[in-house]
Amino acid sequence: MGHAYSAMIAHDMARREGGKFFVRIEDLDPSRSKKRWEDQILDDLDWLGLSWDRPVVRQSESIDRYKNILIKFKKELRLFECNCSRRDIKNALSAPHESEKFSGPDGLIYPGTCRGNNLLYKLNFSNVLRMDNSLRKNKSYSFCELGPKKGKISFSSEEFSKRVGDVVLWRRGYPAYHLACVIDDSEQKITHVVRGLDLFDATKIHTVLNSRLGLKKPFYFHHKLICDENGKRLAKRDDSKSLQKYRQEGFKASEIKEILGFK
Ligand SMILES: [Zn+2]
Repeated sequence: MGHAYSAMIAHDMARREGGKFFVRIEDLDPSRSKKRWEDQILDDLDWLGLSWDRPVVRQSESIDRYKNILIKFKKELRLFECNCSRRDIKNALSAPHESEKFSGPDGLIYPGTCRGNNLLYKLNFSNVLRMDNSLRKNKSYSFCELGPKKGKISFSSEEFSKRVGDVVLWRRGYPAYHLACVIDDSEQKITHVVRGLDLFDATKIHTVLNSRLGLKKPFYFHHKLICDENGKRLAKRDDSKSLQKYRQEGFKASEIKEILGFK
């Protein structure tokens, strides 16, 4: 239901402005990507009465595009190789028992263990590659937010380094979500990115990546997350019903829109 909500906001915003609405299949994790789920997404959107522009980009179809960007920008990104496990990272934190305090939008904030492994010559894509954020001092980043937190959102390189850390850009054969996302936004000439507030901090990662890769920044609209009557996020509830479930129970698209607060 959260995804349906997001799609409706993006679709309506694009159509209202005479723009295009794209669906991108972010299928980089093979264990969570199946053709029939993809078909279901498109079928659900169609059922909701949303139309989308072509082509539908599938990230899994051209992994080399992402590789080539990393090869080209390895210096700007200050890539280094790291194969520390989650446990290794946890143990290397100054207070491992408080690891939840050391967590950012890319998971545990990396303590810098393998920063010395600078890989300026050859990248090994069967490893994990991170970008070193420790050496960029006194730099300010910003993005333009159009959603409920409306305004220019600024943050410093120091803050980014402390609260986000050395982000993983490549994980054993596959690009990380953050990398694939900014490259595709740029290649598809996306002007407005619409998504939930749960990704607000991840947008800081995308902003830093856009800056280092010299890409144009899109506008962002982070919408509120849909909650039940007690304010609990639907996506976090065990008993939350999927759109599919509602459809099986005979709900009409207009009723779903009403549940989600659309008229
Ligand atoms: Zn490491």
